[in-house]
Amino acid sequence: MTKVLALNAGSSSLKMQLMEMPAEKLLCKGQVERIGFNDAIVTVKSADKKIKKIMAIKDHTKAIDILLKALVELAVITDYAEIKGAGHRIVQGGTYFNKSVVIDANVLKKIESLGELAPLHNPVAVIVIKALNAILPDIISVGVFDTAFHQSLAEVAYLYSIPLELSQKYAIRKYGAHGTSHDYVSHRAAEMLDKQYEDLKIITLHLGAGASMTAIKNGKSFDTSMGFTPIAGLTMGTRAGDIDISIITYLAEKLKISEKEVFEILNKKSGLLGLSGISSDSREIEDAMATDDRAKLAMDIFVDRIIGYIGSYYAKMGGVDVLVFTAGIGENSAIVRQMIIDRLSFLGIKLAPELNQVRGVEQVISTDDSTATVLLIPTNEELMIARDTFKII
Ligand code: AMP
Repeated sequence: MTKVLALNAGSSSLKMQLMEMPAEKLLCKGQVERIGFNDAIVTVKSADKKIKKIMAIKDHTKAIDILLKALVELAVITDYAEIKGAGHRIVQGGTYFNKSVVIDANVLKKIESLGELAPLHNPVAVIVIKALNAILPDIISVGVFDTAFHQSLAEVAYLYSIPLELSQKYAIRKYGAHGTSHDYVSHRAAEMLDKQYEDLKIITLHLGAGASMTAIKNGKSFDTSMGFTPIAGLTMGTRAGDIDISIITYLAEKLKISEKEVFEILNKKSGLLGLSGISSDSREIEDAMATDDRAKLAMDIFVDRIIGYIGSYYAKMGGVDVLVFTAGIGENSAIVRQMIIDRLSFLGIKLAPELNQVRGVEQVISTDDSTATVLLIPTNEELMIARDTFKII
């Protein structure tokens, strides 16, 4: 048995899972939230014990140190040397990586250089990789890239209609995101249905605070809704998704602010939050929908954009066999799933309302005579990270 860490560094958080491979047994799960603050929250759970602390954690280097110490404190390990490998979720792998790889000095440099495209994520992942290597010099670190799954997109899908020379010179293209999640749930779908992955036309809906959809055909990512960066595509918690780009210069002029500041509005104050004026959290929108017109409008727009992408992928793939719901909203919100599937009845896709009343379990939620099978599959990005890491080490 081999102990492997799966690490996921966000802008102000660090999530960790320690797994025993190949048994895929979760030994311990932990996270640090509010990194950079005096009241950062550390939560670490083993099978039978739990640590929760509020303390000052100034950066990700300190956060990884605290999480490793907690593993010993909870007696999940007695010695750091028991951990043989660490898989790091890397949000942006550019065109360099179409699969997970060992992180050597050269790979680390490439991850660092891609920071421009994922400023909230790649730089902190680099800090965590370096900090872990400093504490555990013999550990094998593996990069698992959110963009890798979408490297299979054809030029016709990944290129933007801008001068080709600019796309080529500056590597401007659709990179997509949430690839590890789309990869995991689409493979699980084929397993659940006992079908060959390559034979299925699948649309995966990763609906969380960040939301994206992917069309999968011939066993590969065929198109995806996020773009050059993760602001594109669907309406999200705080992100605008697809808009007419001239709004950026227009708003900058009207508000007398820089385009960078407009971009902040589109990234952090738009989406469900901006539309509803209530919250970026879909639960609060759902609760307010019956009495608040703006909340209802926000949810209708969220659903409308999803329907648009389903229509687009249906047409581009020439049909669809399977739809998969996953992530926070996809796994938990029966109402949102129903609002979406109800609009697909013209395609013969039908929800079984009694099967839809579930949260966070693997289940078919469509009727037997539905033209496409609709599935609910909880995502498990950490498991994918641990699997790839174990395979590589
Ligand atoms: P994620 O980014 O995958 O963690 O998903 C976060 C989103 O999932 C937020 O918008 C939450 O409101 C939503 N969410 C989490 N739990 C529920 C739930 N029980 N019902 C509806 N939405 C939920």
